[in-house]
Amino acid sequence: MPFVGSSSLVYPTVNLPFDCTWPQAVSLLPIHPMAHSAVSQVSVAVPVGGDSSIRRSVFKPHTLSFCGTLWAPILTLDLSTKNARSKYRYTICMSVQQANAPKVSVSPLQLEDAKEPPLNTFKPKEPYTATIVSVERLVGPKAPGEVCHVVIDHGGNVPYWEGQSYGVIPPGENPKKPGSPHNVRLYSIASTRYGDSFDGRTASLCVRRALYYDPEKGKEDPSKSGVCSNFLCNAKPGDKVQITGPSGKIMLLPEDDPNATHIMIATGTGIAPFRGYLRRMFMESVPKYKFGGLAWLFLGVANSDSLLYDDEFSKYLRDHPDNFRYDTALSREQKNKNGGKMYVQDKIEDYSDEIFKLLDGGAHIYFCGLKGMMPGIQGTLKRVAEERGVSWEEKLSQLKKNKQWHVEVY
Ligand code: FAD
Repeated sequence: MPFVGSSSLVYPTVNLPFDCTWPQAVSLLPIHPMAHSAVSQVSVAVPVGGDSSIRRSVFKPHTLSFCGTLWAPILTLDLSTKNARSKYRYTICMSVQQANAPKVSVSPLQLEDAKEPPLNTFKPKEPYTATIVSVERLVGPKAPGEVCHVVIDHGGNVPYWEGQSYGVIPPGENPKKPGSPHNVRLYSIASTRYGDSFDGRTASLCVRRALYYDPEKGKEDPSKSGVCSNFLCNAKPGDKVQITGPSGKIMLLPEDDPNATHIMIATGTGIAPFRGYLRRMFMESVPKYKFGGLAWLFLGVANSDSLLYDDEFSKYLRDHPDNFRYDTALSREQKNKNGGKMYVQDKIEDYSDEIFKLLDGGAHIYFCGLKGMMPGIQGTLKRVAEERGVSWEEKLSQLKKNKQWHVEVY
């Protein structure tokens, strides 16, 4: 990272790999006087909004500089000024140490004080009509299939906690029940309760477009494309979307111990709840949750073009190396130790000693993604447990009893 001594008063701009957006209101607080002795300062384009990993942004940010004085970026959101949502890239001077971990300080929502998560505020018979903010392709050209990041404006009316899901009712008629709407499809929420714009008004989904490939014809059959995922991936800003929920308690992030260890295992869109957790841990500054533990993410996808939110995770790795670990399994690019395809269970096996020790020490372990991921993973864990002279059945029942084991597969 380029930097200069403070005496030179030259402030090079370090552009982090983020599309930065300006929240509704930003306040700058002076940093502690001792910090003036910081050896070096840089000006940094601080990420304060939007999704950094999205390859194309709908927003065209500008640049603002505040380099005359030494300021620390304490960003607060004024929820009352929702219409003043101009979006900017900006540049602020700060010490190198601070530059490493800029966080967005959010105005706490009432949700922070609730003892229980909101549940089923909107039911299928009376869904909430929300508005699509943006739909962005998340994957590169060599990824098999398409995954989209869908931001939905719920106006603050369908609040949720990290790890919950929304239901979506696609428009049109249920072919199995003529005259009735389609059934609800569930989608794990991929943002924190503050949403990607940090104001508590949006939720983001990570949606794989379900296509049907006819094995006999050897090509896609559009008449059998998934209804809801295609509706979401084709949606345009301003389109209306019927949502239900939020639902689910199994994947809530336990926050009683801010120094806990969380081992997250995702395949594909199973990354959604973990993106929410990690933004809460590393991107937002939340008064009630100062994460000081270890978050370890295993992500399995087909190839490097299929990696999801990789920029965001790579940044956490740079900024919080003591609190974050990130391992990817690229089944079509990497080989496991036996020369076969590299799946998440192979990565788990590579680190099984550490993982078992962490579980023995009370770590939470989460699994999210396609149902098919579980047999391979459970098989690996069972084998590793037995190699260690431990009964996997007993270990598993103990993990479940201690509420350390969290699974959401579909
Ligand atoms: P449907 O219309 O329901 O079709 C289902 C499948 O059948 C599709 O693959 C379609 O191509 C195929 N099909 C359709 N017609 C035929 C036919 N005649 N013959 C053969 N095949 C056919 N998904 C995500 O992408 N992201 C998430 O974060 C996510 N989270 C979830 C969380 C939970 C708790 C659950 C239960 C599910 C989650 N899902 C998620 C899955 C999601 O709910 C949907 O099931 C998925 O998007 C497919 O819905 P669809 O309406 O597009 O497909």
